[in-house]
Amino acid sequence: MSDRQPEPDVSQPFAPSSEARARVDALRALLAQGNLRAAVVGAGKSGRAAAELLLAQGAEVTLVDDQAVDPFPGIKAAPFSAQTLELAELVVLSPGVPRSRPELAASIGRGKLVGEIELASWFIKAPLVGITGTNGKSTTTALTAHLLASAGKKVFAGGNLGEPLSRLALSKDPVDVAVVELSSYQLESLIDARFAVACWLNLTPDHLDRYPNLDVYGAAKRRLIEQRSVHGTAVLNAKDRACARAGIQLGGRVRWFAAEAHSDLAGPFGTVLRSEDTAIRTVEGATEAYDLATPSLLGHHNRSNAIAAIECARHFDVYSDAIQRGLHSFRGLPHRLELIREVGGVSWYNDSKATNVDSSITGVTALPGPIILIVGGKDKGSPWAPLVEAGQGKVKAVLAIGQATLLVMAAYAGRVPLLEENGTLEQAVKRARGLAAPGDQVLLSPACASFDQFKNYEHRGEVFRGLVEAL
Ligand code: ADP
Repeated sequence: MSDRQPEPDVSQPFAPSSEARARVDALRALLAQGNLRAAVVGAGKSGRAAAELLLAQGAEVTLVDDQAVDPFPGIKAAPFSAQTLELAELVVLSPGVPRSRPELAASIGRGKLVGEIELASWFIKAPLVGITGTNGKSTTTALTAHLLASAGKKVFAGGNLGEPLSRLALSKDPVDVAVVELSSYQLESLIDARFAVACWLNLTPDHLDRYPNLDVYGAAKRRLIEQRSVHGTAVLNAKDRACARAGIQLGGRVRWFAAEAHSDLAGPFGTVLRSEDTAIRTVEGATEAYDLATPSLLGHHNRSNAIAAIECARHFDVYSDAIQRGLHSFRGLPHRLELIREVGGVSWYNDSKATNVDSSITGVTALPGPIILIVGGKDKGSPWAPLVEAGQGKVKAVLAIGQATLLVMAAYAGRVPLLEENGTLEQAVKRARGLAAPGDQVLLSPACASFDQFKNYEHRGEVFRGLVEAL
């Protein structure tokens, strides 16, 4: 027998080895005996929920963070160092802390590091629906949960959106289905979590500050499909190359969706659009039609999210008419192409959640125009040209704000009738009011992160809402 170590699969950098799986099995057994020293890395809301969950299992818990940790009963706090983690048998990682931190290397090497989602999944009996993608995760998660609730199921919706999954694991109140939004960071540290439905919406360049290239980012997303349970279903976008490739390579039960009328992949095995407002779902040769025309699902991208959500919900034992009712009663999520109000024939849209160029393209494409676009914030390094292109002939003015102002000015120079530096959101709203004529849409769709001037995108959206409501 060769004593050489097996070569790690560099094309799948996040796939756990069989040793890591075996190690996690052993740790689960120790935890079940209430006999484990655990460290939780990151004291945000996911980390704190994970710490409480471990404590409830009888573990000895240390919570570590770069910042001072507000202690809570029964849990020790410590600085984030390799030495602290050395003492722990199990290390649970919050999604906000990059796996590449050098302090984590030894824990990863020993197979004792798992993500917060992985930990929570060990204690949840309800089937899990995992939803990931570069864009559309929250909308599809909320809509899937809403469709299942409309069909009478008791549903948890959380993960990256809202409540951490560990909160459900701590709850004494059982649910029928848990719909979990998953970021790539959360997927990187899955080992053994199992998903009844694993839905991957799309892959476009984002987070390239944290991943070396798109393939590595895609490898993290692909982990969700690899973690399907034995009878689980992958729900995949037939129009997205990375999703389609994963579905074809991994096989198993796949349901496809395609936001177009004809798709070889989706046709007989999934849901496609018959028109912009109607979807057709085919299963075993029979078809179901759904009406998607509702103001909360504005834009082609939301048609795509809707058909993905239909496929996720229909995995369960629910009727199509209940799903149809749910599609019509869905109210959408704030900060995503949210119509705040109409004043003097001008519609004001809050799309603060558009924190990357692709999301802003989606927002600009979904509205008919003429658009006054408020754009900028903390740049993420993606090219701006596609956004400029998407707005040609439709965007009548661009008002640049925040740190990215110079980039915005350079990208739009000579490509839009009016281009101005406005500095702050407040100034831009005032200026937009002066410029807007009846029939115009004023769209805050920043294409950037918010941290240069705001706490987060929600804060930016709330400030915008306040300014618009005060008009
Ligand atoms: P996520 O949770 O993945 O960030 P959201 O549902 O919160 O996604 O939507 C954020 C923004 O992404 C939306 O405002 C919209 O601009 C864009 N978006 C939503 N769904 C899609 C999609 N299916 N394809 C492309 N862009 C989308």
